[in-house]
Amino acid sequence: MKLSLVVPCYNEQDNVELFFAETVKAFQNVKFEYEFIFVNDGSSDKTLEKLKKLYKEKTESDITVVSFSRNFGKESAIYAGIKNASGDYISLIDADMQQRPEVVLEMIDILETEPEYDCVAAYQGERKEGSVMTGFKSGFYKLINKLSEVELKADASDFRTFNRGVADAIIEMSEYHRFSKGIFSWIGFNTKYIPYEVQERNAGETKWGFTKLVKYALEGISAFSTKPLSLATYIGMISSVAAIIYLIVVIVQKLFFDVAVTGYATIVALILLLGGIQLFCIGIIGSYLSKTYIQSKNRPIYIAKEILKRK
Ligand code: UDP
Ligand code: MG
Repeated sequence: MKLSLVVPCYNEQDNVELFFAETVKAFQNVKFEYEFIFVNDGSSDKTLEKLKKLYKEKTESDITVVSFSRNFGKESAIYAGIKNASGDYISLIDADMQQRPEVVLEMIDILETEPEYDCVAAYQGERKEGSVMTGFKSGFYKLINKLSEVELKADASDFRTFNRGVADAIIEMSEYHRFSKGIFSWIGFNTKYIPYEVQERNAGETKWGFTKLVKYALEGISAFSTKPLSLATYIGMISSVAAIIYLIVVIVQKLFFDVAVTGYATIVALILLLGGIQLFCIGIIGSYLSKTYIQSKNRPIYIAKEILKRK
């Protein structure tokens, strides 16, 4: 049995060596083979140098370093890592020590002893973020589960271990706009969720600010649901019916009761409201169109500038 540890690294110069040392320590008594697949996602700091140093010096460890030509994002890094992994089991784990390598052993144990599961995913047992962030995230999960055909487990992380079958299915999903939580759910298979305690980041800072997360959430919705596209139809139907009813009221008032039509302010407000809704809906259509456009170019998900591999 062989395990591949897929580690996306973007500006993690102060973490990769510690991550490697801690993992080797946690794995010192394991009976299976394991390899590291480090993906340098276009880091602008010394991450690549540190990874090359590990590759050169730690000759007793099976290390692969895939280095991107620029920053393609964590989703692309995960894809590249899985593509280059040769293990029977594959683990996705961050380089910043927020996810303990010991948990990977727990996951392997579950996969080995409970063969009905193909994948073990960790979710944060307890959130260590502020209440605004927690509220925002739980709102997002409710929304996407309502809108899309995939069912996302709230708080599930990318920290997971799965077998070859799952890995091959993920590689098959070669879409450009990748939303891995959705991909994991879409491919099916049996997943067991285990709680884990997220650790403090060792060094450096998170790449996910609030605005980036909002963008990511919207990407996730458009990647796995086409319901927002019908929004214009529904709003259009409702406002048309309302307009017809109102028109009849106005005509009846004029013909039978001779009421003069007033309401300058109402007209202005309605024009602005409907104009706003129209632009909003065009924007939604535009965002789907742009994704279709990019996908139709069939660009690669990542470009590797350099790959260091043993043998
Ligand atoms: N990461 C990456 N490319 C990116 C952003 C992040 O490969 O564009 C990696 C990063 O190096 C880390 C993991 O993805 O190993 C998770 O990133 P981060 O710790 O910033 O996210 P958080 O843990 O705060 O969700
Ligand atoms: Mg992190």
